[in-house]
Amino acid sequence: MNYSLLDRGDQVSRELAETFEQLAKERGLVRDDERPDVVLSIGGDGTMLHAFHRYRERLDRIAFVGIHTGHLGFYADWKPNEVSELVRLMADGGGLKDRVVKYPLLKIEIVSDAGSESYLALNEFTLKGADATLVAQLNINDMPFETFRGDGICISTPSGSTAYNKSLNGALLHPSLEALQIAEIASINNRVYRTLGSSLVLPKHHHCDIFPVKKQKLLITVDHLAIPYESVVSVRGSVSEQKVTFARYRPFPFWNRVREAFIQDGGQP
Ligand code: NAD
Repeated sequence: MNYSLLDRGDQVSRELAETFEQLAKERGLVRDDERPDVVLSIGGDGTMLHAFHRYRERLDRIAFVGIHTGHLGFYADWKPNEVSELVRLMADGGGLKDRVVKYPLLKIEIVSDAGSESYLALNEFTLKGADATLVAQLNINDMPFETFRGDGICISTPSGSTAYNKSLNGALLHPSLEALQIAEIASINNRVYRTLGSSLVLPKHHHCDIFPVKKQKLLITVDHLAIPYESVVSVRGSVSEQKVTFARYRPFPFWNRVREAFIQDGGQP
């Protein structure tokens, strides 16, 4: 099995990466940054976002694994002291096929004056006014839904629902649900301007379009990436046909991760 590795760059993560490489060599695992079967991310969820975008052209041939060197992450759920166990499972585990989970991704298609571009998000996409309130028409399945005025709009994946979306009071979605979630970022609601106010969950066969009403500078984010746009004509969000694969060498149910990350012992009856 070939693997590649990405670390956060801090000393703890770099040292753990060296330990992993040493143990992996002893067990006959081969590092191949061009064509890895498994991509290991050492750091936090942000490191996994970088790993995902680095290998997004090879998503159908790669399984990701995350080790956290800070607090427990949603994508980085192996502890540093479990690294030798992870190497043993990778080396002895045989084929990966039965030991993976697949999570849905978000497809974003942006049409601007400069042409059209398409992105895949593991966590979310956001559209914000760069220097003024965002005013945009939101359509769902080609039907006008509402006119949004406020800081911005966030569209997240189920596995990204625990990230930015959670700060916006969006619901947490189990990643086995093939869906996307639209959440408002500080919408203006008064007698003149009105939006739904709740987040919306769309199934796989639905799509949404955002049409900025005025020509304005916008900031688009896709996970950790921030891309300024001078003028956007439309943005379409839908559940991608592609999925991301995570190697699951041991079970760690999503709701346990939610509980450990956000409630911990405070949630004990
Ligand atoms: P960062 O360093 O600002 O990290 C943001 C935090 O988000 C970290 O604690 C990270 O562990 C956590 N996180 C990332 N993905 C997660 C997930 N799927 N579930 C739960 N927590 C998650 O930025 P970064 O490391 O470059 O990560 C970019 C992400 O930051 C974005 O994808 C977005 O989700 C998040 N973000 C959150 C807010 C907010 O909550 N107000 C604002 C901007 C960005």
